[in-house]
Amino acid sequence: MAQNTVTFLGTAGARIMLAKQLLASGGMWCNLDGLQILIDPGPGCLVHAVKKKLDATKLSAIILSHKHLDHSGDVNVMIEAMTEGGFHPRGTVFAPQDALEVDPVILKYLRGFPKQITVLKEKQTYQVESITFQTSVPHHHGAETYGLVFHTPELTFSYIPDTVYFPELPSSYSGEALIINVVRFQKTGPILHLSIEDVKELIRQIKPKAVILTHFGMTMWRAHPWEVAEKLSHETGIKVIAARDGQSIDLTELAK
Ligand SMILES: [Zn+2]
Repeated sequence: MAQNTVTFLGTAGARIMLAKQLLASGGMWCNLDGLQILIDPGPGCLVHAVKKKLDATKLSAIILSHKHLDHSGDVNVMIEAMTEGGFHPRGTVFAPQDALEVDPVILKYLRGFPKQITVLKEKQTYQVESITFQTSVPHHHGAETYGLVFHTPELTFSYIPDTVYFPELPSSYSGEALIINVVRFQKTGPILHLSIEDVKELIRQIKPKAVILTHFGMTMWRAHPWEVAEKLSHETGIKVIAARDGQSIDLTELAK
C-alpha cells in the first residue's frame, strides 16, 4: 500500500442510505506513513475491513468525528477487534466528550481495552506516533462534531465531516486534499448537512489541489456522485472525485 492511502469502507451518509445499505457505511481506513488509523467506523466497518484484508490488530487509533450512528455504529466492535477482545491493549480512541458521556456510544465495559481514550476538543493538536492532527472549530450538527486536519511527513489533508455551512468553517481547514461529507445535493430546508453549493464555497476558500466527496445521502446518490464530481472539476478547475465503496485512494498521488 502507498504511504498515504484512504480506503473507503463505505460512502453512505445519513439515515435512509444507511438503513437500506444502498451504499456501505463502514467509514475510512487510513494508512498514513505506515500507521493504520480508522475514522468514523459506521455500521459494517468490521465486515468490510475483513473483506479488504485490513487487520484491526494493526490499528494505532480509532477516531470519531461525532457520535451519530452512521459514524460510530461499529466503534465498539472495532475497539474489540483492535485489542483482540481486550487481551492485548493497544491504540488510542479519540472521541468528542458527548460520545463518551450522557447517552454514550462507547460502551463502558470496553473502555479499558485501548491503551488510551482521548477526548477531542476544538482547535487542539493531537499526535499518533509520526502523525499529528488538529481539530476544527465545533461543527453545527446537533451532536458535538469536529473535523480533522492531518499532517503526515509528505502531505497535509483535511476531513470535513457533517455540518451545516457557516462562515467560520473554511478557516479551520487546509491542505493539498480535502475529504468532504456531502449528504445533500441541493441546499434545502433546515438540514444540518453540506450540499454541493457548500462544497464549491469550501473549494473557493481553502484552495486544495484535490477533493474527495463521500458520505452521500439519497439526493446525492440520485444525482450520481461521480457525475456531480466531474461537473465540479470543470467548474472549479480542481480535481474532484466521488469515492466508491471499497476504493483505496492514494492521497499523495491524487494531490500531485
Ligand atoms: Zn452526523
